Amino acid sequence: MKLVTLASLAALLGVAAFAQNATKPSASSGKTLDMYYMDMEGGHSTLYMLPSGQSILIDTGSPGERDHDRIMAVLKEAGVKEIDYLVSTHYHSDHIGGVEALVKAIPVKHFIDHGTSIEMDRPVVATFQKLYEELTANKRTIVKPGDKIPVTGTDVLVVTSHSKVLKTPLPGAGKANPFCAGFEPRDESRIDPDNPNSVGLLFTYGKFRTINLGDFTWNVEKDLMCPNNPIGTVDLYLTSHHGIDQSGSATLVHALHPRVAIMHNGQRKGGVPQTMNTLFSSPGLEDIWQLHWAFAGGTEYNAPGRFIANVEEPAAMAAAINPPPQPADAPPPAAGGRGRGGFGRGGGHNGPAFLIKVSARADGSFTVTNTRNQFSKTYAAK
Ligand SMILES: [Zn+2]
Repeated sequence: MKLVTLASLAALLGVAAFAQNATKPSASSGKTLDMYYMDMEGGHSTLYMLPSGQSILIDTGSPGERDHDRIMAVLKEAGVKEIDYLVSTHYHSDHIGGVEALVKAIPVKHFIDHGTSIEMDRPVVATFQKLYEELTANKRTIVKPGDKIPVTGTDVLVVTSHSKVLKTPLPGAGKANPFCAGFEPRDESRIDPDNPNSVGLLFTYGKFRTINLGDFTWNVEKDLMCPNNPIGTVDLYLTSHHGIDQSGSATLVHALHPRVAIMHNGQRKGGVPQTMNTLFSSPGLEDIWQLHWAFAGGTEYNAPGRFIANVEEPAAMAAAINPPPQPADAPPPAAGGRGRGGFGRGGGHNGPAFLIKVSARADGSFTVTNTRNQFSKTYAAK
């Protein structure tokens, strides 16, 4: 925040200015809000192409060529020549890893974040924070709940930032949340403390609503959703925190009442039975789409294959489900490479990667497509 001038802060942070620009789209415009959920191998990057032609990229995956190349390919496919807003939910390497490479590759007009990391005692974080402030000088906005990203035709509302949450209910929302009663707090003392600081955004395009809360964690979900639900319901929920069970309580998910969940899990990150069970039991949930087949879930807790964008070779899956007996003198499995220890701790593969694409219309209907097999499903307006 140090490098942001007072004048630019006033210009960029003014809530009034943020609030004025969002206008209601015409339901007959025929335009779509297009979302590209990229495979970051258990990290995160999602591109939102607004009907106005403006672009919002949330997060940039892990460092290195793999995720950068995938992001650039999607930007090219979507016809993005410059990014209007780059939102960094928080400062973990599976979310901000590609910022520097991205800025070198394509113009970014504005940067959005939650403020300085609270992990500055970690040398790698302090080093990145200094670089980030240089990269974003005079183009950076630190947001708080209730702020809006000033785009045209789509309402993009900040609902969480720096562990603060939206308290003023949205029109039609604010009723008591019945799923608060069963909430059980977690010991989060061992969770990386920048996760609950995640910038969370609610997108509203006509009747369509979708939410992306970054790695917002379990206990602060209660702060957001209890005792009253200030958000109401959404059509599409991006599973918080990659589908790890440190996030995604029923208090949040069941109250949001999504029709569809997309999980940006890795092979070995997220997709755990508890998270999947919360989704399976979520009232009104029609389908779960996954960026990866999750080893943690096995056959019982993964979505049907046609809803999964990246499926590792069947032999590997079979081995995971039913490991072959090891000879007594077998060497231990090699560290690194596939599985634990890769970027973002999600494992990963460097070959072709497929994404999940969503096109939403102002009448509330939306179509989800798995680009691996072109399986596509339209959820009709209600
Ligand atoms: Zn993460």
